[in-house]
Amino acid sequence: MKLKKNWKPIIDRFQAKLSAWKSKTLSFGGRLTLIQSVLGNLPTYFLSLYVAPEGVIQTLERMRNRFLWGASKEKKKIHWFSWDTVVAPKKAGGLGVGVWNNIAGIRKDLLSKEISVHSVLSKISTANGATWRSELSPNGIYSVCALRHRWDYRPPNADGNFTWIKEVPLKVNCFIWRARRGRIPVALELSKRGVILESLTCPMCNEQDEGADHVLVECRYAKQVFEGISRWCKVNTADCQTIKEVEDSVSQLGLGHNRSITLLAVYFGAFWSIWKSRNARVFNKNRIPPDKVIDMIKSATYIWVKNRGKFGRFTWATWSQCPLDF
Ligand SMILES: [Zn+2]
Repeated sequence: MKLKKNWKPIIDRFQAKLSAWKSKTLSFGGRLTLIQSVLGNLPTYFLSLYVAPEGVIQTLERMRNRFLWGASKEKKKIHWFSWDTVVAPKKAGGLGVGVWNNIAGIRKDLLSKEISVHSVLSKISTANGATWRSELSPNGIYSVCALRHRWDYRPPNADGNFTWIKEVPLKVNCFIWRARRGRIPVALELSKRGVILESLTCPMCNEQDEGADHVLVECRYAKQVFEGISRWCKVNTADCQTIKEVEDSVSQLGLGHNRSITLLAVYFGAFWSIWKSRNARVFNKNRIPPDKVIDMIKSATYIWVKNRGKFGRFTWATWSQCPLDF
């Protein structure tokens, strides 16, 4: 199994699985779940039995990456984040996909993460003979969990504190996770990546260039939506200029945990709905007035929080009055 050609059946099987799921028909969140669970588990069995050559791992990882961004061998797509960011733990600002463990590469991998093999497990002499000791656990006993923890550790970056909330669908979380770093297909970002467009102007206001923070927060259209949301929730976020500022200001309102999460769910729903409205304008020439978007946000977030959250003791009557009155 040291030769790449011996791995061809596994690579082919993997490719066949990928082709069976049409990446186009799945949302980003759906594709993420697939590469994480189903596709993530497929080769694990073989990788645990045999030592895979580095090239095989790379091929399989490249396939997972292409699938996530909706691309295929034939059709290129923009990869909005590096594979490193995709596999990084959520705590470190990644998507938490995780990498495949390859026992062959473990020594090299440990070194690449600046973990010495010695610190994982070393033999020490005692009066009664020899014993094993791990520096990763405070008690000196080796555990997979402690290694995993050390393995996954990355210094948190400035964007690392994104709050993933289960009160909204995964695709909505993923969208905000991308948008707050500007990695969504707005005109400015597409042109940065070499896509030639007729105009960079925001389709909602026709006043400024279309960046992620502009279209979702600063734009006249987004502001009108957020004014309505602020009145409904009885909070004020009028002076926020970026997605991250909106997110931060929610936690700074001192509402307590449950209300903060509820409000965050409402704001995530608002970003998502503004984006949908933007897409309706761009692709279908359909103008959705801000009032209608506000109604869409109210009903969508009602269903999400009611069914997904653990604080569902409210009715449509109270929710539509103010979602934080519970
Ligand atoms: Zn605009």
